[in-house]
Amino acid sequence: MDNTIEHIKTLIIGSGPAGYTAAIYAARADMKPVVYTGMEPGGQLTTTTEVDNFPGYPEGVDGPSMMVQLQQQAERFGTEVRIGMATEVQFATEAGGIHKVVIDGSKQLTANTVIIATGASAKYLGIPSEQRLRGGGVSACAVCDGFFYKGQEVAIVGGGDTAAEEASYLANICSKVTMLVRKGEMRASKAMQHRVESIENIDIRYNTEVDEVLGDQVVEGLRMVNNQTGEKEEIAITGLFIAIGHKPNTDIFKGQLEMDEVGYIQTKGKSTKTTIPGVFACGDAQDKEYRQAVTAAGTGCMAALDAERYLATLEG
Ligand code: NDP
Repeated sequence: MDNTIEHIKTLIIGSGPAGYTAAIYAARADMKPVVYTGMEPGGQLTTTTEVDNFPGYPEGVDGPSMMVQLQQQAERFGTEVRIGMATEVQFATEAGGIHKVVIDGSKQLTANTVIIATGASAKYLGIPSEQRLRGGGVSACAVCDGFFYKGQEVAIVGGGDTAAEEASYLANICSKVTMLVRKGEMRASKAMQHRVESIENIDIRYNTEVDEVLGDQVVEGLRMVNNQTGEKEEIAITGLFIAIGHKPNTDIFKGQLEMDEVGYIQTKGKSTKTTIPGVFACGDAQDKEYRQAVTAAGTGCMAALDAERYLATLEG
């Protein structure tokens, strides 16, 4: 452990749309923000191709380019962006207390205020063919990527509300959607189940799992297996959507911040305030409902404004 301790006024953990938007606002308010990027600089958008639903880009923008632009915008106002991962935190519980954060297991920081923008990660099945074809037709976001499969046949894995919602979204765009549900029933709400069951071009396969995603460079098909009978079947598809849940990247805050049972950080009312004074949470780390780049950016702005007011009350 490096024994020198660096003090930072506003520490932002995470570099997706929430983190960078918080940084833009914090830098402009002279809060001297330092962003630590985390393991995936730029966040989840760097793993998507075209982003067509972020306002202000009439022709769309590819995810990695958009994140570089957000970083440049934050830097233009004086944000310092550093590569590194917060590995340990010790939050002060009283207002005005100094928070301690360790980066990469060795660098010690103290901060007046901390904005958590660590995001969430989509869960994947973890089978090799799926991992190999990520970005080549395997996606975890129908709203982001569904459009590219207009008029084509696709499949979606999952039986929760997200899978049901995304299946009906895809059914509007694609010619056919095969939905793989691993149990004999869906976990989704009854209303969502009825909705997907009533859509003609959704073919629901219960007790069915992915055996292998087919294709060399891009998805060309899917081999499914019925987990009751062991029977296998191949279908031709060009896109495979994985909708088996997300995991918020909040493990290091466990025991210090209030979270729901899955690990989403609880914020107070319509604010980004956590249960610790001076610690704010924005983006997907605290939002399991919307999870869009634009909503993450919106809450990033809110976190910076909340942090600014918090610092002002200490100084005033
Ligand atoms: P959930 O955890 O609710 O559902 C995950 C689904 O994926 C389950 O059907 C689960 O199957 C399945 N699954 C998990 N792992 C695998 C695997 N390895 N292989 C195959 N299938 C797998 O996640 P969601 O993202 O759907 O929802 C998260 C939360 O957000 C929920 O509380 C949901 O209600 C909420 N939500 C609400 C919406 C709304 O109200 N409009 C919209 C979207 C989400 P199994 O059931 O067998 O475990």
